[in-house]
Amino acid sequence: MTIALCPGSFDPVTNGHINIFERSAKIFDHLIVAVFNNIRKESFFSIEERLELLRESTGYIKNITIDAFDGLLADYVKDKKAGIVVRGLRDQNDFFYETSQMLMLRRMAPNVESVYLMSEHRYSYVSSSAIRELVNFQGNIEGLVPICVEKAIKEKYARKND
Ligand code: ADP
Repeated sequence: MTIALCPGSFDPVTNGHINIFERSAKIFDHLIVAVFNNIRKESFFSIEERLELLRESTGYIKNITIDAFDGLLADYVKDKKAGIVVRGLRDQNDFFYETSQMLMLRRMAPNVESVYLMSEHRYSYVSSSAIRELVNFQGNIEGLVPICVEKAIKEKYARKND
């Protein structure tokens, strides 16, 4: 059984991420989507909220597990017995970033392969940071994130302005 792991911040999960999950879940027997709990970085959604939104938006994909981790990716991957790390590539910036990440992972977990899926054209400009930026200026995020994320963002803003 091939277990693949897709790590990320997912703050928030976008339709670009979901597209990578759907395609990975077709290729591998099981996919673990793992939210990196970076305690040094301030986040828009809490780790619990991100996990909940990921669960809600991927509920229809049967061979996915949603989880969170902190510490080193190499340790977490070994712990989960995942042989593959999947990452999405939007452009050459992602490629450059991923190269050093991959080499570091290879050094720490030589038996783990990194696999890259090219982003679909319609999602290649979508990032969590762009979504947060749009939200900040009340921009329209319809179609860029799952419906539950759109709803959660609206609720967060309604509470903030109460
Ligand atoms: P972001 O860069 O949006 O903050 P994450 O750190 O959560 O995203 O990234 C998790 C993985 O998803 C990374 O491999 C990233 O390159 C990939 N990814 C992010 N957005 C997209 C997208 N629109 N299309 C394809 N892959 C993406």
